[in-house]
Amino acid sequence: MTGERLLVQRIGDFHYPIVFRKDFASLADEVLTLQKESRRICIVSDSHVAPLYLEEVKRELKKCKMEVMSYILPAGEENKTLEQIQGIYEYLIQQHFDRKDMLAALGGGVTGDMTGFAAATYLRGIDFIQIPTTLLSQVDSSIGGKTGVDFKQYKNMVGAFHQPLLVYTNVSVLKTLPDTEFSSGMGEVIKHGLIRDKDYNVWLTLHREEIMQRENDICLEMIYRSCVIKKTVVENDPTEQGERAVLNLGHTIGHAVEKLKNFTMSHGACVAVGCAASAFLSMKRGWLTKEEYEEILEQIKAFDLPVYTENLCAEEILQTTKSDKKMDGKAIKFILLQKKGYAVVDKTLTDADLLEGIRSVLP
Ligand code: NAD
Ligand code: MG
Repeated sequence: MTGERLLVQRIGDFHYPIVFRKDFASLADEVLTLQKESRRICIVSDSHVAPLYLEEVKRELKKCKMEVMSYILPAGEENKTLEQIQGIYEYLIQQHFDRKDMLAALGGGVTGDMTGFAAATYLRGIDFIQIPTTLLSQVDSSIGGKTGVDFKQYKNMVGAFHQPLLVYTNVSVLKTLPDTEFSSGMGEVIKHGLIRDKDYNVWLTLHREEIMQRENDICLEMIYRSCVIKKTVVENDPTEQGERAVLNLGHTIGHAVEKLKNFTMSHGACVAVGCAASAFLSMKRGWLTKEEYEEILEQIKAFDLPVYTENLCAEEILQTTKSDKKMDGKAIKFILLQKKGYAVVDKTLTDADLLEGIRSVLP
């Protein structure tokens, strides 16, 4: 079985390591390897994660001979706001944080996006590292450099691209993650296999049991393989001009469902429903066989994720997809599976096609 793993994300001339571990024991070594002159590091965490892991992470970081501080955000997407970012700025100013100091995001995607945004904007940009603690943040949000906050009712409306210096993933923290959060991350994991790696897609089904038990070795291998896919797609298209859009498989319909359900369904569950609809449309296009389509639905269900959604109507979902950001002029950029393990961007689907896809995920 695999031990520790390492990836290097390259964005233009800049590159940073993504390390995969089963504990926090080598965190200080990884930070020291960055050879930064920082005197201080401020860990930004949230009110659920801090009681579980903050003390241990602080203890490890103190081995870097840096002054270690912490700032705790209230947990939850509803707190992913500019007001909370102002709280971070105020704390950093009080502490006389300067351009040589750095932030560390310890938490899920909400903490990572907010800490990254604070780092991107405080003093016109300071360094930060990511220590992601949800499956979703370990396979998705900690990589790629997108940071930001929600603004009024608009999700991720205000933000910046700002790459971390290091992503340190400790898979053992997944043990404390609530089940719905773990499944939510699995929605993105299944998506990764579908868009770029058929072998990985098959591997996930073979290892379902160990994954659901959150066994460290298997989770480490899974998160590593998902990150290879995300990293490669991001490297080919760092600012989302083209290929990166394939990462949105399942997201056009998924986002609409998420919004119409008032965010009561997890993101990954909505993505799973969206993937089921995309798979249906790919089958209709003649790109997937009926057996392959059904295998995709079975896999989604095997990881406790839904393949349909109730109490919504198809027209309402279609209208909502049109207000999504992922639109190119008037044509919807829809992601289809040219085959299992290879996704493409498609701009030719008509409203009638989309309605058919949406109806395939309604009871
Ligand atoms: P989250 O950060 O809200 O974490 C989910 C919940 O789990 C929170 O209550 C959190 O406190 C708790 N938690 C985190 N780690 C835990 C642990 N190890 N044990 C126990 N509880 C733990 O949500 P998320 O799903 O990680 O991320 C969602 C956010 O990520 C959204 O805001 C989304 O917009 C963003 N996102 C960003 C990108 C990107 O590229 N930047 C990509 C995808 C998603
Ligand atoms: Mg997503």
